[in-house]
Amino acid sequence: MSDMMRLTLVVPVFNEAETINLFVDRVKQVFEKEMSVIVDFLFVNDGSTDATIDILIARQKEDEQITIIDLSRNFGKEAALTAGLHAAEGEVVVPIDVDLQDPPEIILEMISKWREGYEVILGRRKNRNTDSWAKRISANWFYRLHNKIADPKLPENVGDFRLMDRRVVDALKELPESSRFMKGIFAWVGYRTACVDYVRPGRIAGTTKFNGWKLWNFALEGVTSFSTDPLRIWTYIGFLVSLSSIVFAVFLGVSVILQGVDIPGYASLMVAITFLGGLQLIGIGVIGEYLGRTYMESKRRPIYLISHIYKTNKDK
Ligand code: UDP
Ligand code: MG
Repeated sequence: MSDMMRLTLVVPVFNEAETINLFVDRVKQVFEKEMSVIVDFLFVNDGSTDATIDILIARQKEDEQITIIDLSRNFGKEAALTAGLHAAEGEVVVPIDVDLQDPPEIILEMISKWREGYEVILGRRKNRNTDSWAKRISANWFYRLHNKIADPKLPENVGDFRLMDRRVVDALKELPESSRFMKGIFAWVGYRTACVDYVRPGRIAGTTKFNGWKLWNFALEGVTSFSTDPLRIWTYIGFLVSLSSIVFAVFLGVSVILQGVDIPGYASLMVAITFLGGLQLIGIGVIGEYLGRTYMESKRRPIYLISHIYKTNKDK
């Protein structure tokens, strides 16, 4: 049996004109001496509005290992990744960011783990020093909450950067949902898993595409996709509130018997009304989050639309 293996890098790109060539150069340099690995680049252009697609096409002319899937508009990184995974043909597949925050050298370590028999090899960040203070805190809270209520648990400090065996990629294709929280979906499929630690550098060029609001919605997506606890908790909150109102009623009854009728009560009434009003609205809001997602899911719309696939004739 030959030792040659085919590796597909799935690279979602959105307005990344500055980084693409740097990325391809670096990966080529890393794999220069690795004669046993054939690296395919599968770029998914996620509706970029800058020169990204032109740069990709130009690069493809020099490099026949490059395939480009051009989506019809910006569908978001999760959808772009899904498009890439559906089209990836390699024996092993690695989703990777184009901004070199996922160092390509790590893939070599992942490959040796794969050769030991692991089917999923996660890239795990040693620290979050390159993240802002706010992002670190919010990520930490998100993982704590998510892992308390959702199943399966998400491994901490692990992103989309990972090496997956063909079997795993085929399993991923079986998941039809249109809300794509990839971290959760990756964790859901399971398989024999190992980790490789790395230090995550800052972006090589360009700017991040994720702002606070996007990340918040991303976190909501994660929790609602893999847990129904936020829905179910309201039954118990309701019980607690009823219980405390019964206790309060008993207290009032007793104090009326002992001290006579006490008229002032405006403040406590207002507090109770606003508290309960707020609680009910939150409860309805949570139901709304799930209902909205159920509604969107029920439309069965495709996750992404491809406008064009640019292939080279490397495969005859
Ligand atoms: N990306 C994408 N579609 C989007 C946003 C981002 O395909 O709508 C890609 C982006 O081009 C990059 C990767 O996802 O290759 C990670 O994005 P970024 O570096 O901005 O995220 P961060 O590292 O800040 O979390
Ligand atoms: Mg990045």
